[in-house]
Amino acid sequence: MNPSQDDESAVREALRFAHRGSGAGDAHPSDADVPIGAAVFDADGRLLAGARNAREALGDPTAHAEVLALRAAAAEHGDGWRLTGCTLAVTVEPCTMCAGALVLARVDRVVFGAWEPRTGAAGSLWDVVRDRRLNHRPEVIGGVLETECSALLDEFFAAHRGDAG
Ligand SMILES: [Zn+2]
Repeated sequence: MNPSQDDESAVREALRFAHRGSGAGDAHPSDADVPIGAAVFDADGRLLAGARNAREALGDPTAHAEVLALRAAAAEHGDGWRLTGCTLAVTVEPCTMCAGALVLARVDRVVFGAWEPRTGAAGSLWDVVRDRRLNHRPEVIGGVLETECSALLDEFFAAHRGDAG
C-alpha cells in the first residue's frame, strides 16, 4: 500500500470528525468550537477512536480533539494508557499540550493537515514531538490535505469574525 495514500485517508477521517464530531463533542455540540478533528488508528490501520474539539461545548480547556481522541482510543486499544504502534491523525498541527499528550501516549506516528505557525508544537513554533532530549519521538508528517484542512478553519473564522472582533 502507498504510505502517502494511507496518510491522506487518515487525515480525511480526522476531517470527518471535524465536520461531524463524535464522543464527548456529540453529546453537547457547540457551533462556537473551532472545527478541529482527530482520529487514532492502530498498527493495522484500524480506526480506534476519533473526536472533534469540544472545548466550548464541555467548558473544558483540555478538550482538544487530540486529547479526546487519545483518551477514547486508549480505552479501545486494550493496553492500558499506551498507544504503542498507533497513528494519530489531526486536521491541524498539535499545540504544546496535545504534543505532550501524544508523546506520553507513546503514539508512533503523527500525521496532520494544516501547519499552525502561531501555536504549532510539531515543527512550527516548537518541536515538542521530536525533541532529542525525549526518549520517545514519534514520526511526524505534516501538510497532508493541507488545503482542505485550512479551508475548514478559514470558513469557521470568517463566519465568526463578527463575534470575536
Ligand atoms: Zn491541542
